[in-house]
Amino acid sequence: MIDVLRALHSGGRVYALIAPAIAGQWDGGIEWITGALLKIGFCAVKEVAHGADAVAKLEADEFIKRRRSGLPFMTTSCCSAYIQAARKVVPEIQPFVSSTPSPLQLTAKSIKEKDKDAVTVFIGPCIAKRREALDDVAADYYLTFTELDSILAASDLKTSSVMETDTPASINGRGFPLTGGVAAAVIANLPRGHDVRAISISGLNRAALRQLQSYAAGNCPAQLVEVMNCDGGCINGPAVVASPSQAKCRIESMLRQTQAECRAAEIK
Ligand code: SF4
Repeated sequence: MIDVLRALHSGGRVYALIAPAIAGQWDGGIEWITGALLKIGFCAVKEVAHGADAVAKLEADEFIKRRRSGLPFMTTSCCSAYIQAARKVVPEIQPFVSSTPSPLQLTAKSIKEKDKDAVTVFIGPCIAKRREALDDVAADYYLTFTELDSILAASDLKTSSVMETDTPASINGRGFPLTGGVAAAVIANLPRGHDVRAISISGLNRAALRQLQSYAAGNCPAQLVEVMNCDGGCINGPAVVASPSQAKCRIESMLRQTQAECRAAEIK
């Protein structure tokens, strides 16, 4: 937090990269938090859901290539805690894990490519992502939602009505923090008529780890396996500020609204 506050006061161009789960954390959703972050001193706010959109496309391509090469199934790779668990606890699952970079990595990289002096601050729901950000050269700092909540309180912005928007990400990218959202986004990017059975592991407990071992041994009942460490997805990360049920409700309402806006734009 101190590093981020120093960067904000240094006069440099500091970008906030907001994880998709942020949409469920505070009343007012993405518009409100975007406005609040700009008010705090960030020069721009970028939805990591744009990176999630790119991930869904890349994972769909990778899925097709892997199936053609004879691999029976592929797991998603966007949950940092799962990636670490696969390395340390279930190494036999590694050949089946997608090699697509995470939404955080793609979003931070695209900002650094456009602005070489950019300072990037990823804001997310968990400490596993902090590890990932520390390992990523394009991500400079990391704040959890709970840390951001403290900054908002100190800035007296929790009661503010400031609203701003950036180019909104798609429904697919914004749906990543909910169980089933990543698999649905990958399937939406597969060619029409591509038949795929997907399952989700949500909550990486001992039983789930044993399940993954069994899949790697040849007993996977699906071709696409979404794996999220937290039960319910990133809305239940260890550093969130809203209850998972409230966050789910807010995100589902935003997704319905985005869908209605897309339909209205298509009719025009
Ligand atoms: S599922 Fe949990 S551990 Fe995995 S990225 Fe989301 S919040 Fe982090």
